[in-house]
Amino acid sequence: MTLVMKFGGTSVGSAKAMRETTDLILQARDTWEDVAVIASAMGSKPVKVTDLLLEGAQTAYRGDAETFRQVARQLREIHYEAIDGLLSPDGERQVILAQIERFIDRYVALCGAVNVLAELTPRALDAISGMGEQMSVRILAAYLRELGYDAEAIDATELIVTDSNFQAAAPQVAETRQRSQARLQRLLDRGGIPIVTGFIGATADGVTTTLGRGGSDFSAAILGQALDADEVWIWTDVDGVMTADPRLVPSARSIPTLSFREVSELAYYGAKVLHPKTMRPCVESGIPLRIKNTFNPTHPGTVIFEEAVESNGALKAVTAIKGVSMITVEGKGMIGVPGIAARTFGAVARLDVSVLLITQASSEQSICFIVPEVSAAAVVGGLEAAFAEELQRRDIERIWSQDAIAIMTIVGAGIQRTPGIAGRVFSVLGDHRVNVIAIAQGSSECGISVVVDAEDTGRAVGHIHDLIVYQGAAV
Ligand code: ADP
Ligand code: ASP
Ligand code: MG
Repeated sequence: MTLVMKFGGTSVGSAKAMRETTDLILQARDTWEDVAVIASAMGSKPVKVTDLLLEGAQTAYRGDAETFRQVARQLREIHYEAIDGLLSPDGERQVILAQIERFIDRYVALCGAVNVLAELTPRALDAISGMGEQMSVRILAAYLRELGYDAEAIDATELIVTDSNFQAAAPQVAETRQRSQARLQRLLDRGGIPIVTGFIGATADGVTTTLGRGGSDFSAAILGQALDADEVWIWTDVDGVMTADPRLVPSARSIPTLSFREVSELAYYGAKVLHPKTMRPCVESGIPLRIKNTFNPTHPGTVIFEEAVESNGALKAVTAIKGVSMITVEGKGMIGVPGIAARTFGAVARLDVSVLLITQASSEQSICFIVPEVSAAAVVGGLEAAFAEELQRRDIERIWSQDAIAIMTIVGAGIQRTPGIAGRVFSVLGDHRVNVIAIAQGSSECGISVVVDAEDTGRAVGHIHDLIVYQGAAV
């Protein structure tokens, strides 16, 4: 029986957190034959190592030759403090300090080059931003060795083979499986504990890539699939997946079970607790996922598996994404003209912008969709170029973007088949005077998305959460 456990930033964010994490790893070994560990970069909130690494690189690129040096000092402080708290001077302390120092030196050198060349490629960003995980796993593994266990820090560049889509690389399943088994099985068979970096992988020829921000959850699922794991556990700083983001809604409650589809919808529409790509390897290989709290380990957290207990259409959770814009292509001459939608989305795809949601237009005379706010101007420009003729003929009258909006998504299996549920959602929004700009049904039949003004988001989420938790539509 194999268990893959992933520990997020806060779970390895300090010497104290690393101790708790170590206890959990050792406890798991009491019941599981093989335990493989994935760890994120250190991240005691609000200071996350990955954010610091990126900030130094980006400021260097913009001509600032000082910030990355300050960042290097901060990185030293964070990691040295953990090393001092965990590793004894007669053990590996000096060796690990020297390793961390080499990473930080390399970081300064890379940022220096970025600064001088005024060039920051996605490839360089990946090499830089992946260092946080490379540092944290070395400390955690050394601590386990100090306690007498056969732990080994392993860079996932040796295990996870990806394409070269830097910043959001996709794993190549067969190669990853072969390498992971070859590299890890012998260690596991002799009772060892692999401590693997989350977030990173490498192309077939060894160039470091990253799987996207928050991607260590995905790393755990990829490795779970590669090792034929029986379960994947994600250890974080909250009691599992909750009815809403607990930072925004203090009364949020933990949800005991969810289906893969429900949690995919939540993750895709902004619930940061799981990276949206995490579910795919687990679904493909039928591996249940568990989300648990490192700092409250006796809490059962959330179990996610194929189909949660037969759902009666209850609402389970609400989530929101801000920082998005709604693009509208509008014109009377579009009615009945084939190909307008294809050309619209073709033009957006050529800009490499992903569409978060396509809404049902209230009239037939427009196409509306949502993109990240940072891409809105480019999308409008691209569409104006693509439809220059139609605009001139006034078949298309206007292409415009509405900024400062948010997508709120309400999730629960079967809600689209349950009469009255959508009605209750819209009554609550209406009663509290939340203006609904557009509506879309989620792709997977288990969500309804509502586009609202960004400034109404907090209120809207709060009222819908009350409906879920207090007004009988509960889990
Ligand atoms: P980690 O470093 O462990 O991966 P993250 O910060 O990436 O942790 O994810 C955990 C955080 O996700 C929680 O602290 C919480 O603030 C946030 N979050 C957002 N939505 C939800 C939700 N629906 N349920 C639980 N946590 C959520
Ligand atoms: N450290 C990476 C990030 O901050 C990956 C992760 O934490 O999952 O994005
Ligand atoms: Mg995370």
